[in-house]
Amino acid sequence: MMKLGIVGLGLIGGSLGLDAKALGHTVMGVSRKDSTCKSAIEIGAVDDASTEFSILSTVDMVFLCTPLSQILSTTEQILPFLPKTAILTDVGSVKAPIVSQMQALLTEVQSENPFVGGHPMAGTAETGIHAALFHLFRGNPYVLTPTETTPIEAVNAVASLVRSLGAKLYQCDPSTHDRAVALISHLPVMVSASLIEVCRSERDVSVRELAVQLASSGFRDTSRVGGGNPELGRLMAEFNTDALLASLYQYRSKLDQIIHQVEMAEWDALEAKLLLTQRDRTQYLKD
Ligand code: NAP
Repeated sequence: MMKLGIVGLGLIGGSLGLDAKALGHTVMGVSRKDSTCKSAIEIGAVDDASTEFSILSTVDMVFLCTPLSQILSTTEQILPFLPKTAILTDVGSVKAPIVSQMQALLTEVQSENPFVGGHPMAGTAETGIHAALFHLFRGNPYVLTPTETTPIEAVNAVASLVRSLGAKLYQCDPSTHDRAVALISHLPVMVSASLIEVCRSERDVSVRELAVQLASSGFRDTSRVGGGNPELGRLMAEFNTDALLASLYQYRSKLDQIIHQVEMAEWDALEAKLLLTQRDRTQYLKD
């Protein structure tokens, strides 16, 4: 059993703590607010928690679970308090900038702590410690993005913990990860948000109000990710700009093709396209 540190006690950090404690690990939490630390102890996500980094002085592994924008600055702050052998891993939804800046930071401060980039592909629309759930990661992908300089022992240690959560482990390089999640996670957020915006900008009040009344399962499915955490959406765009833009340009070109087919009444071509998308979709939905 290990002594784990979790920095950033929200949905992901709290959920990780609940499962890690259930597996028998000891969990030390750090968060920005005292009230969050207290709640984390109350719900059983940590054995102890504090706003003071010294609580991490004897941990074996630290999960960095703050918002993306805070991962680097938080690491800089906690490093002096960590054992030199403690393995660092993050859960940020974008990997290339985090991994390269983290490696630069660790080199600059001459830290010997190994770092393994990670991203659990699991979440809900909720945030904060009270959104934490048992088994959030079970059955879901969890990607590790080591580089050629990442010590293999550290990768194996994080991988073993990830597997024990019941997650499906994947490994790839950081930028391949970012391009893949732009397609299946970040682009859908922007597309779904645009869909909600189109409804909101309908000028005819009677149509708009009726649309609100008639919205049902189709709209629930297609609007779900566009109605999620705005801060997370912003950070996806800010941290994964190039890959997101590339997928948005592709999407715009696909929309233009559909507009053209509808304008030209190319119904057979449109149906042929929808036949292909109907078939392709099943590849992405395994359960
Ligand atoms: P969240 O529920 O908002 O949790 C983040 C927590 O970090 C907050 O509750 C906050 O706690 C704490 N925090 C903020 N700044 C801090 C700082 N400087 N030092 C210490 N603690 C700080 O967000 P989340 O959804 O768990 O996301 C956390 C990370 O997971 C992000 O990097 C995100 O990219 C990644 N991720 C999210 C999802 C998802 O679907 N939500 C999925 C995969 C990965 P206080 O109350 O103490 O301020």
